[in-house]
Amino acid sequence: MLLTWYLSLRWMNQVNFAWGQQFSERQVIFDKYRILLPLLPEIALARKMASDPAIINMALHENNTVIREAGLTTLENYRLHFKSHDYFAAMANSGDYYFNNRENQYKGKQLRYVLSPNNSHDRWFYATIKDNKIFQININPDVHLNVTKVWINVLIRHDKKVLGIVGTGINLKHFLKESVSVSKHGIHNLIIDKSMSIQLDTDPTLIDYMSVAKRPDQHIKVAILLKKEKDITRLQQAMDYLKIHPHDIRTFWVDYAGTRHLLGVAYLPEIGWYDLTFMDVKNVLLIEHNLFMPLSLGALFLVALIIMGLALRQWIIRPIVTLQASSDSIREGNLDFEPPLVGQGEIRQLAESFSSMAKHIRDTNHELENKVIERTAELTHLTEIDPLTGLLNRRGMTDRLEKEIPRHVRTGHSFGLLLLDIDYFKRINDTLGHAAGDLALCEIAKVILTLIRDYDYAARWGGDEFLILLPNYGKENLLAISNRIHDGINQKPIETPIEPFFITASIGAHYSNGDESLDEVLQKADEALYIAKKTGRNQVYMSNHPNPSKPENI
Ligand code: GH3
Ligand code: MG
Repeated sequence: MLLTWYLSLRWMNQVNFAWGQQFSERQVIFDKYRILLPLLPEIALARKMASDPAIINMALHENNTVIREAGLTTLENYRLHFKSHDYFAAMANSGDYYFNNRENQYKGKQLRYVLSPNNSHDRWFYATIKDNKIFQININPDVHLNVTKVWINVLIRHDKKVLGIVGTGINLKHFLKESVSVSKHGIHNLIIDKSMSIQLDTDPTLIDYMSVAKRPDQHIKVAILLKKEKDITRLQQAMDYLKIHPHDIRTFWVDYAGTRHLLGVAYLPEIGWYDLTFMDVKNVLLIEHNLFMPLSLGALFLVALIIMGLALRQWIIRPIVTLQASSDSIREGNLDFEPPLVGQGEIRQLAESFSSMAKHIRDTNHELENKVIERTAELTHLTEIDPLTGLLNRRGMTDRLEKEIPRHVRTGHSFGLLLLDIDYFKRINDTLGHAAGDLALCEIAKVILTLIRDYDYAARWGGDEFLILLPNYGKENLLAISNRIHDGINQKPIETPIEPFFITASIGAHYSNGDESLDEVLQKADEALYIAKKTGRNQVYMSNHPNPSKPENI
C-alpha cells in the first residue's frame, strides 16, 4: 500500500511536470507573440521614419525653417500610420523635442520643449544616444505629458553620426492589457531585458522605468521575484542558451511568491528581451495532489490483488485442491473414483494426466482383482477336486452336501445318496500293483460320470469309496440309477498292459424325503453300504426299501 502510495505520487509528479511543461511552452510561445505582434509594425515604421531623408534633413538643418516644415509634415504623415497616432522627434544638436498626438493637439506647435542634460527626466535621451543602438524600447513616464508609455526609440543616423531620436509611444496600460496581462489565475507573465531588468509587468510598480538611463544598481531586476540564487543562475543559463537558440523554450521549477512555480522562458530576438511566464504549480496541475488519487490507486491495487487472488483460487488453487482430494481418495483405496477434469491450460493438462493415471490404476486393479478371483477359484477348485479321478474330493463334496441337504430340507424335496466301495480293492493293489488300483479308481469315476445327470454330484469320498448325491430324486429312480452304476462297474474291463481285469463294487443307497439332517443321511448311506458288504458285496442295498438281500440278523 505504501509502495502504491509512493509510486502514485511519483507518477502524479511526472504527469504534472510533463503537463505543466507542455502548458508552459504553449503559454510562453503565446506570450512571446502577443508582445511582439503589436511592437514589430511600430518598430518597423519608426525605423522607416528615422531613415526618411526628410527627417534626416530636418536633423541636419534644424534652423532651416523650410526643411523643418517639410520634416514636420513627414512626421505628421508617419503619425497617422502609427497605432497610437503619436510621434516624437528629438534633435541631438539643439535638444528640440517635437511631439504630436492622436488628437492633433499640438498642431502648429509640435516643438514641445528643449531637452536638457541637466534634467533627470531627459536622461533617457542622452543615454539612448550614448548606447548607440539602432533602436531601443524604453518604458518611461512622460512627465511633460503625464502618461507612461512604451517608447520605441530609433536613432537618426547620418554618416555614422547620431543626429537625434524619433519614435512613437504606446500607451503602457493598453499595451499591458493586450500583451502581458493573463487572465488565467496562477499565471504571471513579464518581460525582462538582457540584464534581467523588468521591462513589462502587470504590476506597474515592478517595471524598471527609464531602464536605459539608470545606473546598474538602480534597476528593478527579476531578483526581486526570484529570491533563490540558484533560480537566478538557472534563469541566466536559460537566457544564455536562448540567445543561441532563439526559437527554443526553456522550462524549469523555481520558487516564486513562496511556492513552487514552473518558469517558462522565451527570447524575443527582435527586441532583445525575454518573456518569462511563471505558472503556479497548483493551478496547472493536471492531477491534484490530494489523498484521493493515491487512495484510489491504492484501492484499485487492492481490488486488483483481490481479483488476482480470486482468479488464482478459481483457476489454480481450486483445481489443485480438487486434484489433491482425488489423489487422497484414490490413495485411500477408492479406485472407482473418477477424478473430475478441472482447470484450464496446464492445470487442465495435469488433471487430464491425473485422470488417465487414475484410470490406468483402476484398470490395473480390476485386472488384478479378476486374476485373484480366477486364481482363488482355481485354488478352491483344486482343494475340492480329487487329483486322481477328477471328481470332487471329500472336502468339495462336504461343501456341496452342506448346501444341498438343508435346501432339500427347506423345500421338502426328496433326494438320493449313494455310498460306493470297491470290493477287495486291497487285493488288486497287492496283486496287480498300485497303478492298476489307480486305474480302477479312474475307470469307476468315468462310469459314474457317464451315468449321472449334470446337476448330480460325485466324489471320491476316501480310499476306494465314492459318494454320489442325486438331488430331486424319486425312490424308484434311485434304485434304478444305483443298479445301473453297479452294473456299469461290473461290466467295465480295466485295461492294463498285461491283461484287462474286472472289479465289483458294493453300493449303499439312501432315499431321503428331505426331512433328515446331513449326518443322518450320511449315516443311513453308510449303514446301507455296510449291509451290502456284509451280505455278500457286489450289490446295491437301499436303506429304506424292501431289499431281498437284506439279512435277517441285521
Ligand atoms: P472290502 O471289500 O471290505 O472293501 O475290502 P478292501 O480290500 O477293498 O478293503 P478296504 O476297502 O478297507 O481297503 C481299501 C484299500 O484301498 C486300502 C488301500 O490300500 C487302498 N487304497 C486306498 N487309496 C488308494 C489309492 O489311491 N490307490 C490305490 N491303488 N489304492 C488305494
Ligand atoms: Mg473296499
